[in-house]
Amino acid sequence: MSMNRRDFIKTSAATAAVAGTVSFLPKKAEAKVGELAYEGEAGKWVSTTCQGCTSWCAVQGLVVDGKVVKMRGNPNSASGGRICPRPHLALQQVYDPDRIKTPLKRTNPLKGRGVDPKFVPISWEEAINTVADKIMDLIKTDETHKFVLTRGRYTHMNAIMYGTFPKLIGSPNNISHSGTCAEAEKFGRLYTEGFWDYADADLNNVRYFLSWGWDGIASNRQTPWFIKQLGMLKKQSKITVIDPRLSATAAKANRWMPIIPGTDGALAVAIAHVILSEGLWNKDFVGDFIDGLNQFVPSQIISETVYDSEGKEVPVFNEKHTHGVVKWWNIELNNRTPEWAAPITGLDANEIRTVAREYAAAGKYALSWVSPGATMQIRGAYSGMAAHALNGLVGSIDNVSLQGSSIPSAKTPDVKPYLSEQIANAIKRPKVDKRGTKHFPALKGKSGGGVITQRTASSILEEDPYDVKVMLGYWNNLAFSVVGADVWERALSKLPFLAHITPNIAEMTMFADIVLPCKMHIYERYAFNKNKQNLQGYLSIQQPLIKPLGDYRTDETEIPFMLAQALAKKGYDAPLRYFQDNFKDPETGKTPTTPEEFDLFAVKYFTKPIWDGSSNSLGDSINSWDELLEKGVWKGKPYTPGKKIDNFKTESKKFEFYSLTLKKVMEDHAFKNDLSVDEAYEAANYTCRGEVGYVGHYEPVVRHGDEASYPFIFAEHRSRLNREGRSQNTPWYYEMLSVDPGGVANKDVTKINPKDGKRLGLKDGDKIRLVSVQGSIESEVKLWEGTRPGVVVKCYGQGHWAYGRVGSEVFGAKARGGNNNEILAYDYERMTGATPRHGGSSRVRIEKI
Ligand code: SF4
Repeated sequence: MSMNRRDFIKTSAATAAVAGTVSFLPKKAEAKVGELAYEGEAGKWVSTTCQGCTSWCAVQGLVVDGKVVKMRGNPNSASGGRICPRPHLALQQVYDPDRIKTPLKRTNPLKGRGVDPKFVPISWEEAINTVADKIMDLIKTDETHKFVLTRGRYTHMNAIMYGTFPKLIGSPNNISHSGTCAEAEKFGRLYTEGFWDYADADLNNVRYFLSWGWDGIASNRQTPWFIKQLGMLKKQSKITVIDPRLSATAAKANRWMPIIPGTDGALAVAIAHVILSEGLWNKDFVGDFIDGLNQFVPSQIISETVYDSEGKEVPVFNEKHTHGVVKWWNIELNNRTPEWAAPITGLDANEIRTVAREYAAAGKYALSWVSPGATMQIRGAYSGMAAHALNGLVGSIDNVSLQGSSIPSAKTPDVKPYLSEQIANAIKRPKVDKRGTKHFPALKGKSGGGVITQRTASSILEEDPYDVKVMLGYWNNLAFSVVGADVWERALSKLPFLAHITPNIAEMTMFADIVLPCKMHIYERYAFNKNKQNLQGYLSIQQPLIKPLGDYRTDETEIPFMLAQALAKKGYDAPLRYFQDNFKDPETGKTPTTPEEFDLFAVKYFTKPIWDGSSNSLGDSINSWDELLEKGVWKGKPYTPGKKIDNFKTESKKFEFYSLTLKKVMEDHAFKNDLSVDEAYEAANYTCRGEVGYVGHYEPVVRHGDEASYPFIFAEHRSRLNREGRSQNTPWYYEMLSVDPGGVANKDVTKINPKDGKRLGLKDGDKIRLVSVQGSIESEVKLWEGTRPGVVVKCYGQGHWAYGRVGSEVFGAKARGGNNNEILAYDYERMTGATPRHGGSSRVRIEKI
């Protein structure tokens, strides 16, 4: 998407009031301090990083007369300078007239939705001292574990605020937002190839793209690169999109499979069944039966070993780079025919068979890409495992399905030498989210290795494992962005003290006691981010493009430093000593004495291996801090596929269809909780028993609400314009919503199949209420063929009741549109601790109003 100058002027009318002085347009081509954008425009393109999603793309902003007026991709980036539409909206975020200008203090002790906090402005000194006093109270009573840090959108400078600050004050509770984001997406990769992170793909060489709910044009990761490559992909490869809704990517694909939400696991195992039963697997990667005869006969169990001519027992299948293909067949796949899967998935058996054949025909150039849509479901972990294992069957693992390369940066200095015995003991206490306990395995590499973000709300309400006394949240909005939003409202109402670091008042802020306004990502602060795209790992810098538009501090560096200074004055100096000892200016050796110095020195410290020339042999050549700021991004050399084969971080070092890695972790979890493994599955709300739990398999879908009372399955998606939940106070967001298939400008519509609409007597524009067991929201009807019958589809993001004059109908009182999280059931995907925002976990009924 591009915006011409006329559009910019028109749509920036609302923001012009922001700073009063904002003048977006250069008068003439003078002050050519940098590269010209277009003839006649002056200004300088300054490098920074977009924070609209976790693609963390390297971008640049055009700065004219101290104002940032335009965005583009960084030409040095791995995506070749491409961006998606969302960075443009960030301009209206930074110049948002509703940004908080100073710290605020609550004067109304009552808390709840619709309750006016009666905020009054206070100084930074008073705000920081208030938070520091709360921490000191916990230190004095040895209750520091009752402090909880919650993290939302972050940069890699989170190593300070999230990684070390809670430990330095004696809290085990650094609770990231990751459970609500995509953790279940990573489960399949971890327990097949030992990799827990976002993956990369060699799009240049993909010949069949099987997308599991991935709307690459619109959201998820590597969006600019996917947009750029889509035309080429369409020429060289087939694209099949599995999604209950006609997504932007599905609209461009060769095939759209409108699956019944939550049944992805059934489709994945049926595809695997066809590949094996028809002998279509990659023999070079997986291997073959020792006699060359395919024994994967439907409904037949295979003996794993046979006796050779010398009477020696040998494996019946000579497996090469994988482990457990025969076990997978015996345990799960042998009877998972397309005919079995068809009624479960709502898809045609012949089409499933065709897709399996097409996919397998592309061999090691076939990519099965698993997204949150297919995994962030109540029982979604194994769906992801089965779908990802398809890459193993065709041998595309570490060929077009990649982990990617790592990116150098300095390690976070150890905090241990700074901890007293009391504080060191306190951080060993159980984490607040109950990870690793009976009902919450959260198996990120070990029992309790993952985060269960939303469990924190229940912990607060139930005072289990203890009563939380102080919460500090940054760049998050838990009362809006997590399923069962009402549970968070109750939890935050109960919380004795909440300090919220945020650029805007949002729903969560309305429950805060102290509000700390922070600098905007991209434009007002230093930071860096690391990611991968187009086979290249990269580090992208953030730097101030403009002066902060209010009395703001940086969330991840300046605010913890200010807290450390305040704590030192009150008698606890460990955090300040740690910060000052370890984050001296790498160029001058100067000790930071102000928050501003600490902010700059800490970013220079972490990125030093990139700008001191020591990583030049690994990628781009950068030889000074100033050069990094100028170029904005360092890219590693393109990843060479094939390096990880037979050296995966799994128990067998192979790609595991039958996961020895998961078996070990699950047995440890069960033992730790005094359970049998089967009891552990049951406690985690999974139906599998025995060895089924070690392979990708189908699990029956959990839906909240009975079909008679709630006839429709609810499915949500992201807009191409969603900067997570934060673009909803920008006028451009609403004006351009029709860029999404089925979207309507300025509306928050529920997309209903015309057949269902006709049956219910609904037409476009009718006002409706969606009611689930969790709650209800109001919306408008959009009849749309892109919704599968029996399903209703709605975009996430609207329904803010407290997010500025544009985002809310009446700020603090009435939402604009409906927040999906008020009707999505408060539940978990427990194996990973993820939030089940997909998979049709909630049924709804439609009431005309
Ligand atoms: S994909 Fe994400 S990080 Fe990249 S430009 Fe778009 S919103 Fe920004």
